[in-house]
Amino acid sequence: MTRSESLFKEAVNYIPGGVNSPVRAFGSVGMSPRFIEKADGAYIYDADGNRYVDFICSWGPMILGHNDERIRESVIKACENGLSFGAATEKEVEMAKLICSIVPSVEMVRMVNSGTEAVMSAVRAARGYTGRNKIIKFMGCYHGHSDAMLVKAGSGVMTSGLPDSAGVPAGCTADTLSAVYNDLESVQELFNQFGEEIAAVIVEPVGANMGVVPPAPGFLEGLRRLCTENKSVLIFDEVITGFRLGIDGAQGYYQVQADLTTFGKIIGAGMPVGAYGGKKEIMEMVAPAGPVYQAGTLSGNPVAMAAGYTQLTILKENPGFYTELNAKGDAFYGEIAKILKEKGLPYQMNHAGSLGCIFFTEEPVVNYASAKTSDTAKYAEYFRYMLDGGVNLAPSQFEAMFLSAAHGQREMEVYLELLRKA
Ligand SMILES: *Cc1c(COP(=O)(O)O)cnc(C)c1O
Repeated sequence: MTRSESLFKEAVNYIPGGVNSPVRAFGSVGMSPRFIEKADGAYIYDADGNRYVDFICSWGPMILGHNDERIRESVIKACENGLSFGAATEKEVEMAKLICSIVPSVEMVRMVNSGTEAVMSAVRAARGYTGRNKIIKFMGCYHGHSDAMLVKAGSGVMTSGLPDSAGVPAGCTADTLSAVYNDLESVQELFNQFGEEIAAVIVEPVGANMGVVPPAPGFLEGLRRLCTENKSVLIFDEVITGFRLGIDGAQGYYQVQADLTTFGKIIGAGMPVGAYGGKKEIMEMVAPAGPVYQAGTLSGNPVAMAAGYTQLTILKENPGFYTELNAKGDAFYGEIAKILKEKGLPYQMNHAGSLGCIFFTEEPVVNYASAKTSDTAKYAEYFRYMLDGGVNLAPSQFEAMFLSAAHGQREMEVYLELLRKA
């Protein structure tokens, strides 16, 4: 670990905390982070030449496995024509048509550069469309780092949000209401109190930023009904679940349609891409078609579009892809649950398709409060043991495990064998 450690020592002098995104830090597991040099298929290699089976997959984008040759070649080819024009390109039209053909609820789409931007812009479009200000989000759901989304998971459901980060004025989150995940009653209460003022409900259709918390039966359907009744916009934040649970994301998987959907991660195949789209009458509010301003110098960047377009096309043209990936998830996470049971460990194994999470708690995890009962010191111990054995997991209890097409029996067995010993 000497190279990673010396790089980190240097990094902290020039980059806050030594990392460009906090989730990469190893603070919560009491270590310094591994610096990564390259990745291929299901494997990732650090600066000291250690190899790990990777269950992070860049937090989702690498659903085909790392360094897929088809995507790499499409990027190299796009580069040969220039990196950016700041003008419209044919690829953007193809990309938009492709997304609209894949996700039934998306009739129009705008490309941006990150999931954060996608959410920020979708919320603005919903507010512009409804002429209302308030939004409902769920405690424990992450929607990027824009001001209005950084709301503390406070105890009172009925209270307006307090900012969760320094530097966010209370005014920026005053219109953000918090509800309890998987608890329709808490949403109903907010509608009772603020119905006419609520522009949108935004939700991760599978909670995947508080560990993995699947929606209870009827939860998403209930949100759909409440939004329709109250003329509010239902936004599914599918930055993780989009093109992961199925080609049409969680909406296809759970058969509930959103009015607006946000994408990120898989849509860029590892390039910085986000998108938001949905009903035409809402999307036509966006500039220059309508009065809701939103822009981006590098939005729809040709190199990024090449990567995303290639990945989505591969996924679309392989109808068996998701059946196989989800079956792999069921088998793998099912085996983990079996091992925990055999060892008499009362922990929770939550999963949805290829997303999974072991919670170190005896309580079933159905929302943020139950997720927070996890023993994070135990998670850290498990993390360190697995890393030492050559398995790369998220350095936090509250993140998902990701499987890709490149994870075969052998890679999963490496993990399972270590877990049995751990
Ligand atoms: C990752 C994530 C975001 C933010 O995307 P960035 O590209 O990191 O800005 C938003 N919503 C969800 C559900 C995410 O998982």
